[in-house]
Amino acid sequence: MSRLQDATRRITLRLSDPDRVRILAAVATRGASYQWRRVLVITISQLILLAVPLTGTVRIDLWQGHHLLLGEQVGAVGAIKGFVVAMCVLWGFTFLTNIVVGRFFCGWGCPVGYVSRLGEDVQLKQRKPMRKFGAHLAGAGFVGTFVAALMLWWVDPRVLIEGSNTARATVVGIWLVLCLGGFMHAFGWRFGLCKTVCPIGLYYRYVTSSTPIGIHFDNQPDPCIECGACLKICPVDLEPRDLGRTMPADGDGEEELYGDAECIRCGDCVEACRMIFKGRPGEVPPLRFGRVERP
Ligand code: SF4
Ligand code: SF4
Repeated sequence: MSRLQDATRRITLRLSDPDRVRILAAVATRGASYQWRRVLVITISQLILLAVPLTGTVRIDLWQGHHLLLGEQVGAVGAIKGFVVAMCVLWGFTFLTNIVVGRFFCGWGCPVGYVSRLGEDVQLKQRKPMRKFGAHLAGAGFVGTFVAALMLWWVDPRVLIEGSNTARATVVGIWLVLCLGGFMHAFGWRFGLCKTVCPIGLYYRYVTSSTPIGIHFDNQPDPCIECGACLKICPVDLEPRDLGRTMPADGDGEEELYGDAECIRCGDCVEACRMIFKGRPGEVPPLRFGRVERP
């Protein structure tokens, strides 16, 4: 085995999570309950990202300086101010969401997180060529649209028709490179990015505390059967049954609330638990997504 193959194998083993994909496949086979709600939330998120520059609400045009603010052409300073206001509005919305339901945006509304899911989707449909092709198509369409939406904030799309050959080649080249980054993310890093690198996630980790809505574990009326599916499916390596419990912090002997700040409220653990309890009719799954009753 060459050094490159060896390095690739090690990276793949380190970054992908076969246990999670295996359980996701089982959940999909037995009917995932959040699938369409997830598609709806991410579609709204993507539409907002597209609508702001396309309606001319804000655009900082790096091509010819045709900056826009509320549909009017403005100078660079006006567009930058508009951009800052738009970012503050988006931040305010996610901040309010964070108070009620924690990092829900990370688990449901973030396009980068959704790209991770689309990569997993390709993997779990591996044995059915047409479905695999469909998953590839969906992934490519989503990544291409997401990157285009990001670029529309910074360049007038008329560059593709009226621009010089150099300008067009530059725009298409940047789009292709960013799409390639999206594919690498989909098949490599995935939720590892949310857990370790994403600056927005890092910020949320510091501001999220106990929220009234989240993941709740209750051994009544029917107890957990200790199958471990919720633990293995968690994309950020949490133990969902311990969320919100007070635990000793590392080192300093103080106590802290476990996992509330790291949980991205994706609901995958709840789906896994429901899937397990589908084989136990009449029994109630102990994990649920909803109002959290703290001890
Ligand atoms: S604990 Fe559950 S909801 Fe939270 S990140 Fe893990 S799988 Fe998602
Ligand atoms: S998936 Fe449900 S039954 Fe299985 S370990 Fe988790 S809480 Fe218990």
